This record gives sequence, structure tokens and C-alpha cells, in this order.
Amino acid sequence: MRIPFDNSYAQLPPQMYTAQLPTPVKAPQVIATNAALATILGIDPADLAAPDAAQVFAGNHIPDGAAPLAQVYAGHQFGNWNPQLGDGRAVLLGEVVSTDGIRRDIQLKGAGPTPYSRSGDGRAWLGPVMREYLVSEAMHAMGVPTTRALAAVTTGEDVYREERLPGAVISRVAQSHIRVGTFQFFASRGDMQALQALTDHVIARHYPDATGPADLLDLVIARYAKLIAQWMGLGFIHGVMNTDNVSIAGETIDYGPCAFMDGFHPDSVFSAIDQYGRYAYSNQPGIGTWNMAQFATALIPLMPDRDAAIEDFTAAVHRMPALYEEAWLSVFGAKLGIANPVEEDRVLITDLLDLMAKNGADFTNTFANLDAANARDQFINRDAFNTWAARWQPRKAADAATIMARANPQIIPRNHRIEEVIQASRTGDYAPFHALLAAVTAPYAPLTETTAQFARAPSKDEMVTRTFCGT
Ligand code: AMP
Ligand code: MG
Repeated sequence: MRIPFDNSYAQLPPQMYTAQLPTPVKAPQVIATNAALATILGIDPADLAAPDAAQVFAGNHIPDGAAPLAQVYAGHQFGNWNPQLGDGRAVLLGEVVSTDGIRRDIQLKGAGPTPYSRSGDGRAWLGPVMREYLVSEAMHAMGVPTTRALAAVTTGEDVYREERLPGAVISRVAQSHIRVGTFQFFASRGDMQALQALTDHVIARHYPDATGPADLLDLVIARYAKLIAQWMGLGFIHGVMNTDNVSIAGETIDYGPCAFMDGFHPDSVFSAIDQYGRYAYSNQPGIGTWNMAQFATALIPLMPDRDAAIEDFTAAVHRMPALYEEAWLSVFGAKLGIANPVEEDRVLITDLLDLMAKNGADFTNTFANLDAANARDQFINRDAFNTWAARWQPRKAADAATIMARANPQIIPRNHRIEEVIQASRTGDYAPFHALLAAVTAPYAPLTETTAQFARAPSKDEMVTRTFCGT
């Protein structure tokens, strides 16, 4: 396999990473490869079917031009400072400048231990690999900035969690894997050389128009506010919004115990480790601002006038809620087929969400069918819905149906479907994975006889209410 590597992170100061080869595995086998993404990366899709593909995507064979390394970072985990984290189960193979001109990382996640593994084994099991593949590709198909999945392989080795499970590796593609926590690591150590080099690298790579740290902060905040608004519009709960899981490029990253809601409840939490609901659906915007305050703090040491910088950066962080609200209005306005939503539409939208919450209406299906008579079926109190719909009618654009069809997916990767896929994959049956992947990567297509099953909300018995980090 030929990958046109062009590595830049490996040129940065050596304290920013450790050169690290993936640890070979026994008997890798390909589960899935992503030809469309390969093409963007400048990889010949025909190479994905070559005999060495499994060896490359498992980390057994290092392709020419790769410069494998593990990145160091720190982070606030559930609000608690952790001074030393890093790629503990991931190895960056290298970067390519894609055919769209964008530089992208290719990383093997589950590739074996690194100096940052702490007590972990550096491995992943099949379950989280399947989940990340499905959810990241679904997010991409729904127009949400996200890391992507280039390939998934099984390793032919077992990993041990609470039980013995099949090992797997996912090839993750990102605009970069630089996180808020990467900045925090060097800022907290007073390593000005690395902090400056990292900042210059990020500006050149992701925000070439930024004139310095203050500008960078503004631009990251703007992207992150919009990203969270998009999550909210899909009923998506990231689950682990720690600062080490916040991409500086503004992509959704680190799909652990994430979930899309079925029935709408604003306080929904799925992650089994999120005891206090810190990362609940409705908390995501507030946590986003908190995370940007940590980013701002990490940039302060770069500024010549510390007091002035604190004042400016505080103001920048305080602008985030308004940016988020603006993005939210535009996201939900489109979901209701409103061409140019105005402030007054906010009440219309929140009134619908309140009704949905009271009725436990399915988030995705309510919006997907809002225009159809069967939307009423989502509401126990149909009169209340009809009263609301009468207020909505005059606000709809002439081409509301088109706007709504683009803003409201028919199919999301529902938790119970992902669970089914994972259970089947444990017996070596990947057909459900491929069927679900096909459905969630065409989320706006009209339902067919084959795909209608994936749009159906779970029955009480099927409902998944807890998700796990499942490293
Ligand atoms: P996460 O909660 O997935 O963002 O991971 C938090 C930290 O734990 C990161 O630094 C990971 O690299 C590390 N980590 C998670 N799982 C493993 C594992 N199986 N082996 C080594 N490190 C891990
Ligand atoms: Mg992480």
C-alpha cells in the first residue's frame, strides 16, 4: 500500500511526542475499509483490497514514509486536572496532504502500549471500534465536523477487560489530533518553547488567517460553539467532554460512551462513568464554554502583557454562549423549515422541545416526520401538538420541505442497533455492521424497505440506557 505521507508533527520539538512503533499483532483481518475516504487521502482504493492492507491497518507493516509517534497531552477529566496523559493506545502513523488540500493525520487506535499507557494495555476491543466507525462516519454524513474511520481490523488476539474479548484496531483520520489538553500540557509545565511551537503549528495548519493567540482563541471558540450546536440538533451526547477530548481543529473526537437520544429528555446521560451528569445533553454548551476557558488559560503565558491578556481572553470566552445560541437558532430553525430564524422563533422551538420532553417523543423521528400526519403519534397530548403546529405554520418557508429534509436525518446510529452490531461481531458476523453502516451513511435518503428498520425507535425491551467507555 502506498500512502503519500508528509509529516509535520514529527518535526516539532522532541518533548512533544515519543517516536513509537505499533506493536505487531498475531493475525490481523480486515473488517471494513473506507474507499471514499482513501481517495480523499490520496490512497488508491484498490490498495485497500491488497494482501498487505490488514498488515498496514494493524500496525504490523509500516508503510514507506510513515513516522510513527505517540503524542503527549494533559487534561481536565470530569473537571479534575490530570497533568500527564497522551496517546496511550494510539500511534500516529503520519500525515498526508489530502486531495482537498487539507492536511490529515492517520492514526492507529488500539496499536499497543506507548510511554503514555499508564496501566492500560494499549489495546482496543472490537465493540468500541465498531461504535467509533459507525458513529464517526454517520456524523460525517450528517455534515458534522468529525474524525473519520479509514479501516477497522481484528487482531487475532484477545484483550482482557471484565471478560476476554476480541481485539481490534481502528484507523482514525483527523485534521489533527491536537487537543486543548495538548496546550495545557506545555502551559502547565512552563515549557514556552513547545507552547510557542505548538501554537505556530496549529495556526499554520488549521487557522492560517489567525494573527496570534488571541485570534486563535476566537476562531477555536467559534468552531466549537457551532460544533456543539450541531450535536444538540441531532440529540447527540458526546459523553466525555474532557479537555483532552476537545479537538483544536473543531472536530468531534473520541467516541467513547457517546449516544444519540431516542426519546427526548434534556437531562439525558448515557455514560456509565458520568455519575453526576456533568456531560448531560443540556450541559454540553456550558461545559463547552468551560473547556474554552481552559484553552484560554493555556494561551495566556504566550502573551507579553499578562493582565491585559486575561481581560481580553475572559471577554472572548464570555462571547461563546452568544455564539452558541446563534448557531443553535440556525440549526433548529432549519429543522423546522424556517428560512431565516429570528429571536422570536426561539420560543417556538423551545416550546416544541418542551412538548417533546413531556411526551417522551423520539427526538429523531419527531423532526424527521414533523410535516407528516404521523408526527402527532409522537405526542400523547395531540391537542397540545396541534396548537403548537398552528403557530409553526406561518413561520415555515416556501421550500420548508427541502430545508427540513436536509436538516433532519431519517436514520441515526441508534444505541440498540449498535449493540446488536457489536454482539453479532463477537461471533464473527459483520453483516449487521455493514447493513447499519450503509444506512447511517445515507441519513437523509427516503426510507426503503431495507432501511426502515433502522429508523424505528427501540421498544422498551430494546432500549439501551447505559453506554461504556469500553477502551
Ligand atoms: P479517553 O477517556 O478514551 O479519552 O482516554 C483517556 C486516556 O486514557 C488517554 O490518554 C488514553 O490514551 C488512555 N487510555 C484509554 N484506554 C487505554 C488503554 N486500553 N491502554 C492505554 N491507555 C489507554
Ligand atoms: Mg481521549
